[in-house]
Amino acid sequence: MNSIEEFHGKEKPEGYYEKTLADLAKLNERLNAFNNINMSLSEGFPFSVKDNICVKGVETTASSKMLAGYTPPFSATAVERLGDKFGFLGKTNMDEFGFGSFGMNSAKPARNPFDERHVAGGSSSGSAIATSILKYHVSLAESTGGSIATPAAFCGVVGFTPTYGTVSRYGLIDYANSLDKIGVMARSASDIRCVYDGIKGPDSRDTTCVDNKISAGNSKRIFLIDELMHNLDDKVLSNFDVLVSKLGNMGYKVETRSISFIDKAIATYYIIAMAEASTNLAKYTGFKYGFKNSDFGMQYNEFFTSSRANFGKEAKRRIVLGTFVRSASVKNKYYNKAMKVRRHILNALNEILSQGFILSPVMPITTPKIEDMEKLTPLQIYKMDILTIPPNLCGLTHISFPYAYGGGMPFGAQLITQQFNDYALTDFVEEWEKDFSYHFKYNIGSL
Ligand code: GLN
Repeated sequence: MNSIEEFHGKEKPEGYYEKTLADLAKLNERLNAFNNINMSLSEGFPFSVKDNICVKGVETTASSKMLAGYTPPFSATAVERLGDKFGFLGKTNMDEFGFGSFGMNSAKPARNPFDERHVAGGSSSGSAIATSILKYHVSLAESTGGSIATPAAFCGVVGFTPTYGTVSRYGLIDYANSLDKIGVMARSASDIRCVYDGIKGPDSRDTTCVDNKISAGNSKRIFLIDELMHNLDDKVLSNFDVLVSKLGNMGYKVETRSISFIDKAIATYYIIAMAEASTNLAKYTGFKYGFKNSDFGMQYNEFFTSSRANFGKEAKRRIVLGTFVRSASVKNKYYNKAMKVRRHILNALNEILSQGFILSPVMPITTPKIEDMEKLTPLQIYKMDILTIPPNLCGLTHISFPYAYGGGMPFGAQLITQQFNDYALTDFVEEWEKDFSYHFKYNIGSL
């Protein structure tokens, strides 16, 4: 039974929601999981929504000052489709517009519930923290290049990114349209499957949303990509070796394959993502959404410069780089070339995925401390996405699940399968959960 049915079948003590909300609000002051909490929630299974997904009448900012005060007059399709069994709990903190891997690019950096000195991971930081601290809860999150898998791994929850185009993007504040995917975080694979079943399917308001049958084509073969297994932190590697041998005992055959050019995925992704982001951010000018600049005495350039000063540092960097790679003189050298390399990487991954799953850790490092992250350059940070970018670049479904604990922190592994074979991933993790129990430091709202 999933915890959604379990929750509905249980008697709630008097004042259950009030107490849960009060406990949550208190802990939120330390962890920065939520940008806003619906303190009037009084029925339904609590669900939270990443702050780049619109909820009617609720401030939605993508954690950007540029969108402060923006209150959408409609809800995203995924939110609408959840239906009456669910109750809206609040909007979760994130890296501004989805730009980041560690939850540090937000006005209020997110903190890891297992140890507050550590990052929570990003960009869907708040969704992962909320899932890790609440007993009964699921979150609608979003991934462009790893934003579901990474925070899910660092916060010890299950993070599912579906095949591109199976969940409508209507009502999502775009980061990079050809890469963005709305997905789910939960404490179990069966909760994820329940939510995914509710939100997927074609939508006339998103023409990239397709009407495909989702399969569960399981396999007993798992492949590791040789080049992705280099440069892993020793602790990550030793824990991952234990996982591999456990899977061997479960009857899986684990083999290694090579994709010599897989490292090119990073540059390819960042060129495409930044190019698309720079056009998406062009609409924020201080006129229409969120922040309104009312100083009309300024010159044209001055006006837009002062409005767009509201973007954070990482957003500005991406506007500059993204605009550059799209410019006429270098378009063939960067953007058009990146589109071709993306296709090569997809072909190489597909060849392996036609024979079985691909498995790797989620991050090459253990969960870093906030103070250590502050010392890294943007390039060092981008390079840490090497394991999560390949499936995201290619629209391939993947799931991140906790597989070990070390030094008090959870470790996450990432399993990838072919497009539209999403149920194979939830089935796999359900099987894994039979012999492995997840631990949580908090269980707010338990019954
Ligand atoms: N870290 C990647 C980036 O900054 C991915 C973020 C995401 O998936 N939104 O682009």
